[in-house]
Amino acid sequence: MKTYTIVLHGGAVTMDPAKMTPDLEAAIRQGLQEALQVGWEILHRGGSAVEAVEAAVCSMENNEHFNAGRGSSLNKQGEVEMDASIMDGRTLRAGAVNSVRYVKNPVSLARAVMERCEHVHISDEGAVEFALQHGLTMEAVHYFETEKARKEWLEIIQDEEKQPQEHDTVGAVALDQDGNLAVATSTGGIEGQLKGRVGDSPIIGGGSYAANEACAVSCTGDGEVILRGALAHEVYALVKYRGLSAPEACREAVQLRDEDLKGDKGFIAIDKDGNVAVESNTNIMRCAYRIGEQEPFVTVWREELK
Ligand code: ASP
Repeated sequence: MKTYTIVLHGGAVTMDPAKMTPDLEAAIRQGLQEALQVGWEILHRGGSAVEAVEAAVCSMENNEHFNAGRGSSLNKQGEVEMDASIMDGRTLRAGAVNSVRYVKNPVSLARAVMERCEHVHISDEGAVEFALQHGLTMEAVHYFETEKARKEWLEIIQDEEKQPQEHDTVGAVALDQDGNLAVATSTGGIEGQLKGRVGDSPIIGGGSYAANEACAVSCTGDGEVILRGALAHEVYALVKYRGLSAPEACREAVQLRDEDLKGDKGFIAIDKDGNVAVESNTNIMRCAYRIGEQEPFVTVWREELK
């Protein structure tokens, strides 16, 4: 049987470790474990990398402990606006949506765009209309808004100086038994972001990129910084043109022009040879991976990766 691998992240962020309470840590670990299992089973039975990354990301979108789908951060107006992307490394086909509401699983909408639309990227109302036309599951706004997100939003609007505003994302990369790579990324963005703000997560080459001849990569961190560095494409280019492995490429990309690209940066990647990379410059890196039938690995702390 050929090697198959899945890697997930639930967001990289620099944060006061005291905020990661034991209950929260346990809930995040469990959510990562569940999403890993869902994606891994698809790969194990010979399913495609695209199917696996979509399913793993859906699992985290449905889990309120992650900032994507239900549990997304609220923008300055107190609304959920979600972004997602997906890319098939076999065909270089991609789909992306930004600033969507009501759609239960934005990553599935991104996949519908990839497979059933002549465009790569559609936004807000147009994306929601496309979701309705294609029978995606919709939810009322209250489904997405958790008590925690509402509380954090209230703190932000009452104190404009509150820093840093928190951000997270979920993402998955997979290598299937046929040697195909895929990536999916989904987020509610940054707490208190301006309405209509678009981060890196839905941008092909920004927060997601996959190409069979090199690697699949999903980014997390400060979206503006990742976008300015086109960091998902940077990792791809380092693997493709410099012949680096995924871990080497992610280590370089985290440090790329660090003076100009200051901020939280995190990556998960798999290269065509099956090398797994999890890299960040943050203390929190919620992530999980499983290589073939090896034991799964799950953590929320970057230091546990060393
Ligand atoms: N990159 C995401 C964004 O800027 C947030 C994150 O990954 O934490 O929307």
